[in-house]
Amino acid sequence: MSQAKKKRKEYRKKLLHLKKKRPKQINEQFNTLHDGEFETMDCLNCANCCKTTSPIFRNVDINRLAKHLRMKVGSFTEKYLKLDEDNDYVLKSSPCTFLNEDNTCSVYDYRPLACREYPHTDRKNVLQIIDLTIKNTEVCPAVARIVDKIIQ
Ligand code: SF4
Ligand code: SF4
Repeated sequence: MSQAKKKRKEYRKKLLHLKKKRPKQINEQFNTLHDGEFETMDCLNCANCCKTTSPIFRNVDINRLAKHLRMKVGSFTEKYLKLDEDNDYVLKSSPCTFLNEDNTCSVYDYRPLACREYPHTDRKNVLQIIDLTIKNTEVCPAVARIVDKIIQ
C-alpha cells in the first residue's frame, strides 16, 4: 500500500473514532483551527486548490459565469466543463482556466460556490464530509495541518 493511501486510511480511522466519541467538540475544533489557519494563510501564495482540483459547477454557477463572460450557457459548458463520475460538472483541465499567473482569480466575484467555500473546514458539520476533508489534506496545506492537530 502506498504511503499516501496508508495515511488516508489512518486519518479515516481516527476521525471516524472521534466522530463516534465527541462529534460536537470535533466539529467545533475544526472551525476554530480553520479560523486560526486562515488568519495567517495567504492563499495568493499557494492557489494549490485552483491548480490541482476542480470545483463543482452547479447550474446557477454556470449561468452566472456564462452571463459574466457573455457566453451562451451551452458554449461555456462545452468549452470549459465535463461531467465527472458523480455526474457533476467540473473543469475539463487543471490548473483552472480562470486562474491568473499571480494566483488571483479572473472571475473572482462570479466564481462557483464551491470555490467560495473551499476547503469547507468552517462548515458546521465538517464530520459529515470526512472523505472529502481527507482528500483535501493532499491539496490544501491548511487542511493537512488542521487534521493533524485534530487527530494528534
Ligand atoms: S489549497 Fe488551501 S491554502 Fe492553498 S490556496 Fe487553496 S485554500 Fe488556500
Ligand atoms: S474559478 Fe477562480 S477560485 Fe475557482 S478554481 Fe478557478 S481560479 Fe480558483
